[in-house]
Amino acid sequence: MNNPPDILILGGGVIGVCAAHYLCEEGASVTIIEKGEIACGSSFANAGLIVPSHSIPLAEPGALAAGLKWMLDPASPFYIQPRLAADLWAWVARFIVAAREPQMRRAIPLLRDLHTASASLYQGLAARRGLDFDYEQKGMLTAYASMRGLRHAEVEAKLLAEFGVRADLLDAAETRRREPALRDHIAGGVFFPNDGHFNPAKFVQGLANQIEERGARIQRNTEVLRIETRGNRIQSVLTTSGTFYGKQIVLAAGAWTPRVARDLGINIPVQAAKGYSLTVPRPDDGPSLPLILGEARVAVTPMGGLLRFAGTLEMAGMDLSVNPRRVAAIAHAAASYLKVDKPAATEVWRGLRPCTPDGLPILGRARRYENLIIATGHAMGGMSLGPISGKLVMQIALGQPTEFDLSALRVERF
Ligand SMILES: Cc1cc2nc3c(=O)[nH]c(=O)nc-3n(C[C@H](O)[C@H](O)[C@H](O)COP(=O)(O)OP(=O)(O)OC[C@H]3O[C@@H](n4cnc5c(N)ncnc54)[C@H](O)[C@@H]3O)c2cc1C
Repeated sequence: MNNPPDILILGGGVIGVCAAHYLCEEGASVTIIEKGEIACGSSFANAGLIVPSHSIPLAEPGALAAGLKWMLDPASPFYIQPRLAADLWAWVARFIVAAREPQMRRAIPLLRDLHTASASLYQGLAARRGLDFDYEQKGMLTAYASMRGLRHAEVEAKLLAEFGVRADLLDAAETRRREPALRDHIAGGVFFPNDGHFNPAKFVQGLANQIEERGARIQRNTEVLRIETRGNRIQSVLTTSGTFYGKQIVLAAGAWTPRVARDLGINIPVQAAKGYSLTVPRPDDGPSLPLILGEARVAVTPMGGLLRFAGTLEMAGMDLSVNPRRVAAIAHAAASYLKVDKPAATEVWRGLRPCTPDGLPILGRARRYENLIIATGHAMGGMSLGPISGKLVMQIALGQPTEFDLSALRVERF
């Protein structure tokens, strides 16, 4: 073993790259192992929203009823494919427990603080020389086509306001005034002034280039095959390009984390939730604000010269096949809420969100191995949380006090 890096990071998505960035800033030596190219997983063509507005976890009291209703609809935005997989049903059972009111309320302040801290880190990152990722901080507008949807949004906005997350309720006229690209039938909306947006692939790849220039090693097209242990330490990482060593190992393989960690004897209940996006050249009269089309749960993000539509949460294991009905539902929602042409489904992207049952990430040292840090489970908020999670990984790895109490995020909670 000649000169292992201080930190070996498994996975080159937003979490792995942000961790590498903050570690490099502190002078640590870092190697990232990535089975494809940087950001080839779910960090590529997602909606790129920075979302303090998403401080309510996916596991909330109404989620299960909505999920059960939607399971009967092939074009619905949320779907769990019934499978005979013990890990899925254990996950669903934990989700049901986490979706109770007290559990949900306990999760909100932590998610709020993490998203807010990350949003301000993004401002600093956007100011870095040579790192352009079409970042804008203009807020985000959620638009509803029905009074029923709007009433539901009001309840959510009040809950967020209780926790200090600003959410401005808008009537129909004000919603359309803020975003004239919305159609006339829109019933109203909620504006979240503290949200931001950017081009995710440009961010992760741009930051990876910068850390490489600063001396970090990125081992692309290198798949982790096995993690080898000795007693309470990770000994080495066996890959398709040989064996790698690190004084500390960071496991940041997104939805693939349980698979990569399968020999470690740690329960990591992460399920993949597939989502799709369609990206078109930005039309002149297209929206200038990032939007969520409320009932359809479709995000619409202007990114430089592009306009992206993203949506669907489909729990179907690690399957990356494309379900044309769900893609068509995204395109249909775009044209029914907005005065834009229906986006053509010529270039469809899909990604797998890494979801924990309680809607909180897993972040911290694994008790069983003294040199292993796990950073995954960021679900629908991984782009938003990337910088703060990366900074927290750095603080944990270097033995610095962490900015937040991370006990609610430890892997042993499951
Ligand atoms: C449609 C859609 C829209 C979304 N919109 C948003 C949004 O607007 N805002 C937001 O905050 N989040 C959003 N997300 C969620 C966000 O994309 C994820 O939470 C985030 O990308 C997770 O990052 P990650 O680094 O954990 O995982 P990934 O980006 O998936 O990275 C994991 C990496 O590990 C690598 N890997 C896997 N196995 C191995 C192996 N054996 N060896 C080596 N490398 C391996 C993979 O190739 C991959 O590059 C969206 C997701 C989807 C699907």
